[in-house]
Amino acid sequence: MGKKKYVYLFNEGEASMKNLLGGKGANLAEMTNLGIPVPKGFTVTTEACNKYYEDGEKISQEIIEEIYEKLEVLEKETGKGFGSLDNPLLVSVRSGARASMPGMMDTILNLGLNENTVKVMAEKTNNPRFAYDSFRRFIQMFSDVVMGIEKRNFEDLLDKMKEKKGAKFDTDLNSEDLKELVRQFKELYRKEMGNEFPEDPKSQLIESVKAVFRSWNNPRAIVYRRLNDIPGEWGTAVNVQEMVFGNKGNTSGTGVAFSRNPSTGEKKIFAEYLMNAQGEDVVAGIRTPEPIEKLNQDMPSIYEQFMGIVNTLENHYRDMQDMEFTIEEGKLYFLQTRNGKRTAQAALKIAVDLVEEKMLSKEEAVLKVEPKQLDSLLHPAFDERVLKVSNPIAKGLPASPGAACGKISFTAEEAKQRAEKGEKVVLVRLETSPEDIEGMIAAEGILTVRGGMTSHAAVVARGMGTCCVAGCGELRVNEEKKTLEVGGKVYTSEDYISIDGSTGSVYGSSIGTVEPKISGHFEIFMKWADEIRSLKVRTNADTPRDAKQAVEFGAEGIGLCRTEHMFFAEDRIMAVREMIVSKNEEQRRKALEKILPMQREDFVGIYEAMEFRPCTIRLLDPPLHEFLPHDEEDIKELAKELDITFDDLKSTIDSLHEFNPMMGHRGCRLAVSYPEIAEMQTRAIIEAACKVKEEKGYDIVPEIMIPLVGELKELKFVKDIVVKTADSILKEKNIDMKYMVGTMIEVPRAAVTADEIAKEAEFFSFGTNDLTQMTFGFSRDDAGKFLNDYYSRKIYESDPFARLDQTGVGALVKMAAEKGRATRKGIKLGICGEHGGDPSSVEFCHDIGLNYVSCSPFRVPLARLAAAQAQVKNKR
Ligand code: PEP
Ligand code: MG
Repeated sequence: MGKKKYVYLFNEGEASMKNLLGGKGANLAEMTNLGIPVPKGFTVTTEACNKYYEDGEKISQEIIEEIYEKLEVLEKETGKGFGSLDNPLLVSVRSGARASMPGMMDTILNLGLNENTVKVMAEKTNNPRFAYDSFRRFIQMFSDVVMGIEKRNFEDLLDKMKEKKGAKFDTDLNSEDLKELVRQFKELYRKEMGNEFPEDPKSQLIESVKAVFRSWNNPRAIVYRRLNDIPGEWGTAVNVQEMVFGNKGNTSGTGVAFSRNPSTGEKKIFAEYLMNAQGEDVVAGIRTPEPIEKLNQDMPSIYEQFMGIVNTLENHYRDMQDMEFTIEEGKLYFLQTRNGKRTAQAALKIAVDLVEEKMLSKEEAVLKVEPKQLDSLLHPAFDERVLKVSNPIAKGLPASPGAACGKISFTAEEAKQRAEKGEKVVLVRLETSPEDIEGMIAAEGILTVRGGMTSHAAVVARGMGTCCVAGCGELRVNEEKKTLEVGGKVYTSEDYISIDGSTGSVYGSSIGTVEPKISGHFEIFMKWADEIRSLKVRTNADTPRDAKQAVEFGAEGIGLCRTEHMFFAEDRIMAVREMIVSKNEEQRRKALEKILPMQREDFVGIYEAMEFRPCTIRLLDPPLHEFLPHDEEDIKELAKELDITFDDLKSTIDSLHEFNPMMGHRGCRLAVSYPEIAEMQTRAIIEAACKVKEEKGYDIVPEIMIPLVGELKELKFVKDIVVKTADSILKEKNIDMKYMVGTMIEVPRAAVTADEIAKEAEFFSFGTNDLTQMTFGFSRDDAGKFLNDYYSRKIYESDPFARLDQTGVGALVKMAAEKGRATRKGIKLGICGEHGGDPSSVEFCHDIGLNYVSCSPFRVPLARLAAAQAQVKNKR
């Protein structure tokens, strides 16, 4: 085997090498091959990053030497030299993972500057201001990113200098001021680090590459990966690229561009730029950028070339592109391109348009929308009636659509804490930065004073489907004092604010929201998804209202109706309690008699809502103590109502106490102890089906599901009760109706003995909530308390209750499915745990050949799309 290659020049790669070169690196290579003007450079691979970690966070000599080798080529190609006094080469060092993770990892610019090269730069460009400005930026970035010295310290020095010189903007400082700043920055470095700022460009480079590798595991990157299902083992690549400068004067500039509008999907190039600026100025939103149309007036030939390249890239990648560009003294460069992040509305419109423009097939188009994004389409907007009579207090940019209302939080940390306590908050910031990610996730919406449509807040919020208004310059926000001032009024953390991410309006009061309507492109797109997918999508619904909602969202049946949810209704909880505290079967039957008609009506409502679609109804599942009161006053009251003594009731409740209720007297175990409960529920299920069949003509085949089975004989015991009851009703009514009796597979023993279980079960539904709980051996209700420690220590990457653990729990599901099919050919298999609405888990269910997934109504569209994507990726 030859030596492994860890570093690729841009002209040695191509788009298909994304796993190795990262998205950015692969696209830089592809652009280079397409002849687009890209500053030259090379990519250190993701494998090098992984090796860095394998070697105990050390970069091997082998990789260092390969970097130096490629550096030499770069020097030859550019005619410049690292540390050269004739023509110094400066580079940028940027992260670039397989999936784009905007702003989550680190970047270092202007690398290669030191006391000598800065002088050469100053002379060569005849622009000492530019040279020293670049140098002070580099010292700050290197110190912050590579050495971990707080950025704030440098900003304070900069602010002091501006104050001293009466400068409003950074650009008002002259070269002498900047030279002095460089001196102060270096002094700060020496104080903090105990040694001099490194002057040797090669060691600057290696230290920076290591810092980018390390940034793969910074806390915000870990959070972002968990949110976006990006595995930690992918690692990041590092791109080292010749610097080009957008801050070299008035014929230089820098900007970002989308080949279509990322907010609406409109087929129109959408770009913003700033003259005499560096990329970070645009992204950080410190100055407000110009629309690209202005470039046509200022530099028409550059504008024309720019538009041409944007179109070339979109046609080449056959998708909307998000690009960064720089103009250096009248010459245009593209620094990166990638498939652009977009709102859900835009994603649907772009996917549909690209098919109509014959750029994509329908199969390709369904891959262009993130299933999780559909969520934001289904979320509320402001109540129009209230909106009509409300006046905005300010207006910003409509950065990410939707509506949000909550009390103001001025820091991300506070937003997170208040949200954890159940408060609805809107995060209000001067501008956001990647450290704010957790607060941004927790907030209902995000409002920033600074920044454009492509600023950090806007890009991240769009990705998450969170409503965002950016660049609302009218607001005077004091983050320290925690006040927001506008129109002569001061708002504090106790005041409500409402923001409309579709119009950019900000309201100084609480405005109610209404459910969204779904329109045109959604229908067309989802129809394609439905044509493509083979996996069915059902819903978990316990009420006729939820069932109707789910049908509107495209549910093809009910996969799980949790009958106990109906027991909590005010008009029946008494009868349920009476049943629980019964001393003998007779008393219990009397109480069950009271519940029967109500339960029957519930099922009638659900069958009617589902019309001809199949319904799986589960027998009573939770531990009984859940239905009983626990504090003394409530027990007293209940005793009175039940006409028994307090002591009597208290001792019954005490006797129901369990140390591990989730592993206690619940599920089919209840039916084993009290068969009359299963009898009553079966009666309600069958009688309701008969009624709906007679009255509406729907041919219902009730699917009666027995929960928490772990042993064939216990299943058979309960099934016999169900069959006996159902058959006697049908015989009595002389109705010919099919029904099925099946089970949940949610106890590991049931999965292991699924071939046995399938002798009696006519269908399986995987209850992956309990199956996860019991496979891992930690409680689904308590794991949240310690899972964060597992994420930060990189033991788990995602919450196994949200995303199916395919290696462990998934292996049980797969095995049980195979065993079930071996015993009963064609046995119907579904999943009804929370994982049924998680895209990667849906893909797994498709791959192992389940018949359907079942999820909550609002996640039905997402599951339909995930199922179609699974089909395209892996035909079955
Ligand atoms: C499950 O355990 O996955 C399930 C669907 O049942 P429940 O959540 O009601 O326990
Ligand atoms: Mg369960």
